[in-house]
Amino acid sequence: MKAILTFHSIDERGTVLSFPPATFARMIREILEGDVKICSLDQLLSPDTDNALAITFDDGMRSVYKNALPVLKDANVPSHLYLTTGYVDGKNNWPTQPAGAPAFEMMNWQEIEACAEAGMQIENHTVSHPNLCLLDQEQIEEECESADRCIEKQLGRRPRHFAYPYGIYDARVAEVVGQKYETCTTTALLPLGRKLRAAQLPRLDSYYLQNRQTYHRFFSPSASSYLRLRHWLRLFRRML
Ligand SMILES: [Zn+2]
Repeated sequence: MKAILTFHSIDERGTVLSFPPATFARMIREILEGDVKICSLDQLLSPDTDNALAITFDDGMRSVYKNALPVLKDANVPSHLYLTTGYVDGKNNWPTQPAGAPAFEMMNWQEIEACAEAGMQIENHTVSHPNLCLLDQEQIEEECESADRCIEKQLGRRPRHFAYPYGIYDARVAEVVGQKYETCTTTALLPLGRKLRAAQLPRLDSYYLQNRQTYHRFFSPSASSYLRLRHWLRLFRRML
């Protein structure tokens, strides 16, 4: 079993984007005590790797620096941060944010640098977090290129992985963006299957892993069918 976990904010607020700090610390501890490895995306994709997880954070909320970084540093495990570069040191108030979305403070460059130094790889999540399906090719390339350049200028390392804002993409977007990065991740609620498409890797949203029971079900032999069921339920709800 291999999977990529998605987190947004590590805080006590109980929003759809929040994951409690104590649960996060416990989850990392329990993973490492078991036989599941936490590794980088590159290691995860190696055919030799099995029973492993990659940890990813989307957007760049300050709570990740405050509440996740100390835990990851202590455990000495790698992770990835998909950064929305246009909102560094601001709030997550990009124009496409749905009404009523919870507001979060974003990290500044000093905090992002501390994350990078501690083993968090800073990846691309565009400049302005748009719905890429609504942009033309030139605009999509500009969103990717400007964010890449900005991260490279600040940190000296060009991103190699990408997460679609809101997990939204279509065949055209995947074609344009997929050529630029080793992997592109979505929000499809699935573990990694046997046949991997690097431009459309599914992830498990931590929102569904908050309670112990769900978390243990994720690691049990019936995990795949359970997650597939949640995936279909989610799609079904979207159609209603
Ligand atoms: Zn995002």
